[in-house]
Amino acid sequence: MSTEELYDMIIIGGGPGGLTAGIYAMRAAMKTILIEKSAYGGQMTLSGEVENYPGFENISGFDLSAKFQQHAASYGLEMVSSEVTGIEPGLDFHSIQMDNGMTLKSHAVILAAGGRPNKLNIPGETEYYGKGVSYCAVCDGFFFRNKTVAVVGGGDSACEESLYLSKLAKKVYIIHRRDALRASRILQQRIQSECNIQMVWNSIPLEIQANHQGVSAVRIQDVKTHEEQELAVDGMFIFIGFNPNRTLVPAGIQMDNNGYVVTNDRCETTIPGVFAIGDLRQKYARQIVIAAGDGCTAALAAAHYVENKKATPADSCPAPFA
Ligand code: NAP
Repeated sequence: MSTEELYDMIIIGGGPGGLTAGIYAMRAAMKTILIEKSAYGGQMTLSGEVENYPGFENISGFDLSAKFQQHAASYGLEMVSSEVTGIEPGLDFHSIQMDNGMTLKSHAVILAAGGRPNKLNIPGETEYYGKGVSYCAVCDGFFFRNKTVAVVGGGDSACEESLYLSKLAKKVYIIHRRDALRASRILQQRIQSECNIQMVWNSIPLEIQANHQGVSAVRIQDVKTHEEQELAVDGMFIFIGFNPNRTLVPAGIQMDNNGYVVTNDRCETTIPGVFAIGDLRQKYARQIVIAAGDGCTAALAAAHYVENKKATPADSCPAPFA
């Protein structure tokens, strides 16, 4: 890592999108560095079983993350564990500030910072996090063998994680605020066929309760009748969607009403040389394979941008997309 040199590309985030961008950037002979603040693989590391990444009928998110990382490393991609604290776009180059006080310079920046799970924001959720409240079945499911747990949500994540938990726990309640799941049909069918999964329809959690051993119950309300009841549970797993990590998105970049970065089909944002990929980018579906596809697109487009920029005087840089 060098503060003196001008990088061709800096990739911020080491999930499937960022690591794929790294592979393609290295294959395009771009001087590239990837910065990741925690685990390589991002949200993918939290998936118990990934069954829809082509080429792998069934692989753990952890193992798939390791394969992505090894593949990127095999091309000599420089990967740095650090937190990016700010991005300052510029005409000649973009500046990337890191929590270690260093500032790196690059022609192109690929934002691949993903996002975080949404919170219910109910009493007990923060207090009992790590004492029975979890946002990751793969990380914490082991602690609930032969116990009773509740999953909140009705999307793909809630269903995938419930299926994972149903193999460990004695009983899994799925608390969903409507009477129909949002999840894909195949997951819905699997949920129905698991006899230790019980749906709790039209209900929202109001409060998570605990005793000296950790979570002991969740108070829920029927949204139609407004009746309340307590479910005795040992753990609460919350999968109610995702919040894109927009804090690093520089001012001036167009975002949609939900906080996702708007790009064109080359993953270019409205600032020249700044690209956005993966869960941060506005798009139809959020899948590992799509994040990887974004990474490929952005790296190829960024390589083209960098080559043009190096061959073009600074005052005639290509205009951002309209
Ligand atoms: P999601 O599809 O947005 O579903 C969130 C669920 O939580 C919905 O059922 C929603 O209810 C419910 N919900 C939202 N806010 C709530 C609140 N305050 N209280 C109670 N319930 C609430 O989120 P996701 O399941 O995390 O999936 C996110 C994206 O990742 C999706 O595009 C999904 O397909 C994708 N994904 C892909 C994979 C994979 O590639 N294998 C795995 C997991 C997820 P409503 O239905 O009523 O809105």
